Amino acid sequence: MGATFDFTGKVAIVTGGGSGIGEATATEFLRSGAKVAIAGRKADRLEAAAEKMRKTTGGEVFCCATDVRVQEQCQALIEAVVRHFGRIDILINNAGGARHAALRTAPVESWRQDMALNLDSAFFCSQAAYPHLKAAAAENGQAVIVNISSMAGNGGTTGCGGYSAAKAGLQMFTRVSAAEWGPKGVRVNAVAAGMIATPLAKANWAKTGFDANASAAATFPLRRPGEPEEVARAVLFMASDAASYITGETLIVGGGPTIKGMIDTDD
Ligand code: NAD
Repeated sequence: MGATFDFTGKVAIVTGGGSGIGEATATEFLRSGAKVAIAGRKADRLEAAAEKMRKTTGGEVFCCATDVRVQEQCQALIEAVVRHFGRIDILINNAGGARHAALRTAPVESWRQDMALNLDSAFFCSQAAYPHLKAAAAENGQAVIVNISSMAGNGGTTGCGGYSAAKAGLQMFTRVSAAEWGPKGVRVNAVAAGMIATPLAKANWAKTGFDANASAAATFPLRRPGEPEEVARAVLFMASDAASYITGETLIVGGGPTIKGMIDTDD
């Protein structure tokens, strides 16, 4: 599929941009003309992903090794990107992940890690980026944050209580930051992904014997897991001028509502 939006002249940061949904999002931004910074913990993995993106898109990618759970590292990421590219127009808070633990026995460390990775990280990066986003908005009319949440933050997932709570919190962080920063032209939205067939998810499904296709067919009207690119395109929409009057919202990209029925209505 060709580029859907035009981000020429814009600079986007994608945390967790070295794999999965983040990699797909960074790649789509590059295809659409943006310069992109990707952040993640492992420098070598980031550089390998960046090299692949440069080859497939011809775009400009900057890598910055960052642990988004650490406030000072988030601040350093923002400063490094401004030094490298001179500006920030778009921040995608994508780095995240779930720990599996039943609430009855979940260690406090597991709870804290879910909060740190999925919620603290967005606060740290957004707060550090805000002055630069505000400056970009003053120049161009708007700047954007998109937070990658999960349908677990809407409906909840048993065995992932900390993650579900953190992703729900991320949706509220989205609303409040949108309200506080909207007057300065900074829009903040979230995309809540459903069951997405990233390479890592597929490997985990194979390892645990989870039949994602059967589960999706039984749960979602579109009857299949989503692809990382399908989330990426929703993120690009939220970051684009096409969404210029949308802020504080969470867009679910999950193959449809999870409604249970009593009779077969399929004709
Ligand atoms: P993924 O594991 O491929 O991506 C997560 C990325 O975050 C990786 O690149 C990883 O290196 C990075 N990361 C992890 N810990 C980090 C840290 N401390 N500091 C910096 N970077 C760190 O998985 P994904 O599925 O692409 O997940 C991307 C986002 O989408 C996450 O926020 C996840 O919760 C969300 N999500 C995914 C699914 C799904 O089904 N795949 C569903 C709903 C939401």
